[in-house]
Amino acid sequence: MQDLYGTTIQARLGVAHRLHSGLAPELGANEAVAGMLAQAGLLQRELSGIMADLDFGSLCSVCGARAGGGCCSSFMAGENDVIQLLINLLAGVCVRILREDGECCFLGERGCLLLFKPMFCLNYNCRHIRQTAGPAPMHRLDQGVGRLLQQQYGLEQLLLEFLRQRGTLTG
Ligand code: SF4
Ligand code: SF4
Repeated sequence: MQDLYGTTIQARLGVAHRLHSGLAPELGANEAVAGMLAQAGLLQRELSGIMADLDFGSLCSVCGARAGGGCCSSFMAGENDVIQLLINLLAGVCVRILREDGECCFLGERGCLLLFKPMFCLNYNCRHIRQTAGPAPMHRLDQGVGRLLQQQYGLEQLLLEFLRQRGTLTG
C-alpha cells in the first residue's frame, strides 16, 4: 500500500519514484494511459507555444532573478502531488530536488523542471503578466491551461483507478 499524501515533497517524490520503478513497463503498455499521456504531451506543447508567444520566459526570468522576486516559492512546491509527479516521470522527466532554499525545489536555472505542473501553478498569473499580455492573449492562455488541466485530471483519475485495482492505494 502506498500513501499518496505524504507530508513533505521529498516523501511524495519518493512514493512517485517507487511507483514508477515498479509499474512503468505495465503503465507504458496500457493503451488508455499511453493515449492520454500522449494527448497531454500535445496539450503541454501547445501551452508552451502560447506562453512563448507571450514572452513569459523573459518576463519571468527577469522577475525571478531578483531576490524574492519570482512566484515559485518553496510553499508552492507543496502543491505537487504523487500522481502528478508520477505523470512527469512517465513522460520522461527526471524529477528530482534541484534546490533546498526558499524557492520551489523544482525551479532550475531554466525555469520549472516539470512538464506537468500543479493546477495552482498553471492557473497563477501575476498582475504584471496580465497587464503586459492584455485580455485577448490572456483568454487564449486560459483556454490552453484549461485544456491541459482537463487532460491532466483525466489522466490522474485513470492512474488512480489503475492503482486501486492493483490494491496499491490506501484509500
Ligand atoms: S508570474 Fe509574475 S511574479 Fe511569477 S515569476 Fe512571472 S513575472 Fe514574476
Ligand atoms: S511552476 Fe514549477 S517551479 Fe514554479 S512553483 Fe510550480 S512546480 Fe515549482
